Amino acid sequence: MNRKPRALIIGGSLSGLFTATTLRAIGWDVDIFERSPNELDSRGGGIVLQGDVLAAFDFAGIRTGSGLGVQSGDRIYLNRADEVISRTFMPQTQTSWNMLYATMKAHLPASVVHPGERFVRFEQDADGITAHFASGRVERGDLLIGADGARSAVREQVMPGRPPRYAGYVAWRGLVPEADLPPAAAEVLAGTFAFQQGEDHLLLEYLVPGDNRSVQAGERRWNWVWYRKAEPMQELPSLMTDRFGARHAFSLAPGLMKDEDIARLRHAASDQLAPTFQALVHGTREPFAQAILDLQVEKMVFGRAVLLGDAAFVPRPHTAGSTAKAAANALALAMILKSANTRIDLALASWQKLQLREGLAMTAWGMRMGDQIMGLSHPLERRRASKPLKRRRRP
Ligand SMILES: Cc1cc2nc3c(=O)[nH]c(=O)nc-3n(C[C@H](O)[C@H](O)[C@H](O)COP(=O)(O)OP(=O)(O)OC[C@H]3O[C@@H](n4cnc5c(N)ncnc54)[C@H](O)[C@@H]3O)c2cc1C
Repeated sequence: MNRKPRALIIGGSLSGLFTATTLRAIGWDVDIFERSPNELDSRGGGIVLQGDVLAAFDFAGIRTGSGLGVQSGDRIYLNRADEVISRTFMPQTQTSWNMLYATMKAHLPASVVHPGERFVRFEQDADGITAHFASGRVERGDLLIGADGARSAVREQVMPGRPPRYAGYVAWRGLVPEADLPPAAAEVLAGTFAFQQGEDHLLLEYLVPGDNRSVQAGERRWNWVWYRKAEPMQELPSLMTDRFGARHAFSLAPGLMKDEDIARLRHAASDQLAPTFQALVHGTREPFAQAILDLQVEKMVFGRAVLLGDAAFVPRPHTAGSTAKAAANALALAMILKSANTRIDLALASWQKLQLREGLAMTAWGMRMGDQIMGLSHPLERRRASKPLKRRRRP
């Protein structure tokens, strides 16, 4: 191949950006096609910063210094009476979804990203792959990357009828400006990664960069996630119906939750949470919510079409691994393609072997851990009930 090889990347969220930045670093031409016409940077909350993300940034030549996250030292557990019942020194760094998104976006030329382009289907032949978009646009490349998330249209073409499965609980979430939390609560939480484990619920909290991506004290945000069960037939559909009456599949962005659901959340917080965590939930102006999903695939490569990130595997958030897995998928792909020269198909086969193994292991571990935390019984958990829970990565 004398010309540069070209990747058509479907989805302009974190997986798409990891893939674009790492493939550009090995000299590929890349184009990202994102169905949303707007910037995505208001979505998402806190993310534990894992080594895979830093390795992908390093490979792509993205230099961030120490300004990517906020450090925590102790991991603490509070009880309902606000007493610290466990304290362990476990330092780690937390960042935010919009920090990673904006950092990668700034590293790419604007001409690489094509917003408002919804992928519809592809076809392939011996010379490459062709993608068709709802706008009528047609693009030709050497590789098509399905980085289009849990409800991937690329996956739907290659593996029809395989939607993610609802795991039985919802992450209620919120972000509170650092200065807005009452001093007594801030004092308990300062410098920690804090938890409260209830009988069938779990709340966790950590500091993340501010809305303006500042990591300066006073300008950061308290990020909390409260996992609570929600029955799938009525409770979940009702929660996922927004204040304007529109029904969302699995997530509700900030600003969309109905007042009655916010009131229900605050009432439950007063009932079940430690006063410090009550202050967080009550101090959140726009709580948001995400249903917890499970998705596994047994194949990630379909000729020249590839699934990665959430399009292939959706791990439970307790693994703190979704974003790291997206980064690892993209980095491994770029590394193997770099040494593959023209033997792209062989490289894809090797890539798939390792990524499938990692994806299956992480998702299975997350299901066991999540079901145990929430007091749920999962078929996988029942089958493996006799096996001890192994920790692979810190949540
Ligand atoms: C609303 C939301 C909030 C999240 N918040 C967090 C968080 O706070 N912390 C955390 O660790 N993880 C969060 N995640 C998960 C995390 O972003 C992902 O696990 C990880 O970044 C990998 O995601 P992804 O890029 O594979 O998929 P996604 O983030 O789901 O992105 C898929 C992208 O593909 C686009 N797309 C879908 N279909 C098409 C199509 N047909 N044509 C073109 N484009 C298409 C979508 O618009 C989307 O931008 C969040 C995910 C979502 C959806």
